[in-house]
Amino acid sequence: MLVRIIGGHGGVSPGFRATSYLIDGKLLIDAGSVASGVHISEQVKIDNILISHSHLDHISDLAFLADNCFGMRGTPFEVWTNGPIKHNIMTHLFNDAIWPDFSKLPSRKNPTMRFHEIRPEEVFKLGEYTITPVPVNHQEGALGFIIEKGDCALVFTQDTGPTERIWEVAKEKKNLKGIFTEVSFPNNLIQVAIDSQHHTPSTMSEELKKMPPMVPIFLGHLKPNFQDLLVKEIHAIGTDRITVLSSDDTSYMF
Ligand SMILES: [Zn+2]
Ligand SMILES: [Zn+2]
Repeated sequence: MLVRIIGGHGGVSPGFRATSYLIDGKLLIDAGSVASGVHISEQVKIDNILISHSHLDHISDLAFLADNCFGMRGTPFEVWTNGPIKHNIMTHLFNDAIWPDFSKLPSRKNPTMRFHEIRPEEVFKLGEYTITPVPVNHQEGALGFIIEKGDCALVFTQDTGPTERIWEVAKEKKNLKGIFTEVSFPNNLIQVAIDSQHHTPSTMSEELKKMPPMVPIFLGHLKPNFQDLLVKEIHAIGTDRITVLSSDDTSYMF
């Protein structure tokens, strides 16, 4: 699997794009920067979109993706997420007030975006990919994803504070090649991290003990205003397993 980091941050500023990872050019995880980060000719090639939760830095570009690609595809973008998250997106974004409801445009039968509800720990297939959605500790309904293709499995927790279940499920995967997770706030903002259900480098240091051993770890979702301090504090964790994600369109092959 080729994982392209369109946006690897938990915010937006010049040089920093919000969370969007594109697998093999066709399976998108979260839509924080897909419209602003890749060319429209690449946007139209996306088939399926997994949405971890409905915070704006993960869904904002669903709006612009639909607009950019309207009428350019013969089939809808298929969007897969938990029921409560779908409800939030339809109620607060595609509600014909903030943005047109692209789930019924140009028609209900053949819309620009079609939303599907998935359930925690109910495994499903999208073409050659097997997806296991697992609840994480963040907004109500938030999901991480374990994605398998051939002899490769990858974990994407997306936003989460300290969590348990996804590590238990991940340990059952014999072919785990990478873990994508998050650190959002520096150590001195531990209370903010607890309240918003995110990690600091110090809580991530503890979280590592629960993860499957030896597997490379990719940390994203750094808040742009704390970039330098976070990189310093992540380095101080003192393990060479960790790579910090950027927003400069880097890809990782697994
Ligand atoms: Zn986020
Ligand atoms: Zn979030």
